[in-house]
Amino acid sequence: MKTYKIAAIPGDGIGTEVIAAGIEVLESLAKKDGGFALRFEHFDWGSNYYLKHGAMMPADGLDQLKPFDAIYFGAVGSKEVPDHISLWGLRLNICQSFDQYANVRPARVLPGIDPPLKLAAPADLDWVIVRENSEGEYSGQGGRTHRGLPEEVATEIAVFTRHGVERIQRFAFELARKRPQRRLTLITKSNAQRHGMVMWDEIFARIATDYPDVQTDKMLVDAATMRMVLKPRSLDVMVATNLHADILSDLAAALSGSLGIAPTANLNPERKFPSMFEPIHGSALDIAGQGIANPIGTFWTAVMMLQHLGEFSAAARLMGAIEQVTSSRVFTPDLGGRATTAKVTAALCHAIEASRGHA
Ligand code: ATP
Repeated sequence: MKTYKIAAIPGDGIGTEVIAAGIEVLESLAKKDGGFALRFEHFDWGSNYYLKHGAMMPADGLDQLKPFDAIYFGAVGSKEVPDHISLWGLRLNICQSFDQYANVRPARVLPGIDPPLKLAAPADLDWVIVRENSEGEYSGQGGRTHRGLPEEVATEIAVFTRHGVERIQRFAFELARKRPQRRLTLITKSNAQRHGMVMWDEIFARIATDYPDVQTDKMLVDAATMRMVLKPRSLDVMVATNLHADILSDLAAALSGSLGIAPTANLNPERKFPSMFEPIHGSALDIAGQGIANPIGTFWTAVMMLQHLGEFSAAARLMGAIEQVTSSRVFTPDLGGRATTAKVTAALCHAIEASRGHA
């Protein structure tokens, strides 16, 4: 039987609550499936670790993670540690060092969920946002001089390489090709950002000729937000830079019901390094410790992890169980319900248990 080694990094706030729930669900799934096993190793890295050790993770943290098949990540962010330290010290450090350049964010309206948008049919909102995850506006280039003085200068440089843009766009075309609509929208801001974004446009036009079966169009990011709200059905797969896609995917999550249900995968498609799977929400300190965090995003994240591991039937079983639970409206307060994280998790385990046959 194949055993996968999974590094669990719950992090801060509700990260610890949703990852514990996700592991419970994954364990009941592996038991039900019978064809594979999961061995979790827990890492207590995050803001509390930082307060004790002065770093978000140990110096050899990346070496420790390298042998794992996948990383199951919660969230980071706390009141005691500035956000840029917690983000760069852990999540971005892992994404960049492991060349997880493809960030994939599906968004769709799950059964039973009332989205804030009035849709003709739930299927009208069924998107995948492909976010460039290794460069762009989050490349870490720039600096500050004359700190604290009136003449202080800060620069934040967006870096776009032909190699980086080509590989993420090809990834998006490949993904779009596998979906029923086979449609890919390039989202940039090439009217105002006339260097890097124009290069994105040019590369896209050239790569599109290799994918005649994929229908393409392009939009400026500001207009794209309106189209997501007003004509959701006209969109399928979208590809955008690190910053633009970061913002668009929060919008997509909100439009599909709640930030609490949205998953994401940080992929190293060449599999030279482990890929990382996480819900898109943050540590949500406002509700941390109350046992009411929505674990659905973390469960859907697990579906993406299983697909990456090649366990497609288990992934399908888990997605089916998630949809069954949302259909029966066992909802945490963010979705208008009164269920706790534990209750949703128990309902999920029950749905897995009750699902038919072995995989
Ligand atoms: P970050 O900057 O890391 O994204 P943030 O605090 O800006 O963090 P979140 O932590 O994602 O954003 O939370 C934004 C809002 O969404 C909060 O009000 C939070 O309570 C709510 N929220 C986020 N995730 C969940 C969840 N899983 N269940 C319920 N509510 C959630």
